[in-house]
Formats: sequence, C-alpha cells, structure tokens
Amino acid sequence: MKPTLLLNATYEPLTVVTWKKAITLMILGKAEAIEEHERVVRSARDTFTLPSVLRLIRRVNAPRTGIQFSRLNVYRRDGFECQYCGDEFDFDDLTFDHVVPQSRGGQTDWTNIVTACGPCNRQKGDRTPGEADMPLLNKPKRPRWWPFSESAQNFDKHPDSWRPYLWT
Ligand SMILES: [Zn+2]
Repeated sequence: MKPTLLLNATYEPLTVVTWKKAITLMILGKAEAIEEHERVVRSARDTFTLPSVLRLIRRVNAPRTGIQFSRLNVYRRDGFECQYCGDEFDFDDLTFDHVVPQSRGGQTDWTNIVTACGPCNRQKGDRTPGEADMPLLNKPKRPRWWPFSESAQNFDKHPDSWRPYLWT
C-alpha cells in the first residue's frame, strides 16, 4: 500500500505515515486530504480514497532540520532523473553537473548542482545550459526537510504528488 506524506497545518512536511494511520487521522477529523492516490478502501461504514498527501488541521510544533548536501540527496531531490534529458537512471549511472561550470565560478551547492546522466553531462561540457542549448527541466533549489523517517527509507523515489510539498 502506498504511504502518505503528512504535512503540518503550515504545509511543511512532517513525516510519512501508513495508509491506516492516514485514514485514522481523517476519521478523527485531525487531518484533511490534499492529494489522493487512485485507490479506495472501505470500512464497515465508509469508503475512503487513500490520501497521498494529508494536512493537519491544527499546527504542531516541529523542529525544522536542514538536509545534508550530498550526491544521494541531490539525486533524491531530482527524482533520479537527468535534469537535461528527463530519463531515469540508477545511482551509478548518474553524475553531478555544475549548471554554471566550476571553471566559471559555479559553486558546488544545492542551487548550482543538478542530476545529469553521463552522456548529457559530457555533451554540456564546460558550458552553461544556455550556451549548450540544453534547458534544465527544473531550477535547482535547496529542498525543504523531507521525510526520511524509518518508514520512508524503503523508497528513494517519492510519489510525484509529493514533490510540490518537498520544495521550498
Ligand atoms: Zn541525460
């Protein structure tokens, strides 16, 4: 069964919950569905569409933790998709690309590093996306905290419906 991303009332991501927990929160009136999976479950009395993203009705206090800048976390942010050709790859087939090349003063940080496959990286070479005529699929940003809780560790790729909520 697909998990549910739980957001604070402020739309900040809090954690990932199981579908049972998600339904319980809805039944108790503590959370509302923002995005839904296509799957329906039936209880004795009711039918629920499984939520993909839930938002708490009342805000809870939760510390915000930064995400470590790392190769894996950049790939996670980009959904393991090359940001030039849009294809999906395994970890070993992906590379870091400096959007503004290092030789031109480009920094190694969240806003200047994107996931790229080897061929696209080589094709772009020491050029900017504009010079190489290779537009980026997404502007690279520092991600918000995102839920790598125990329950989330089994899926590196998040459902697409979560993406808008995992970005600043
Ligand atoms: Zn590519």
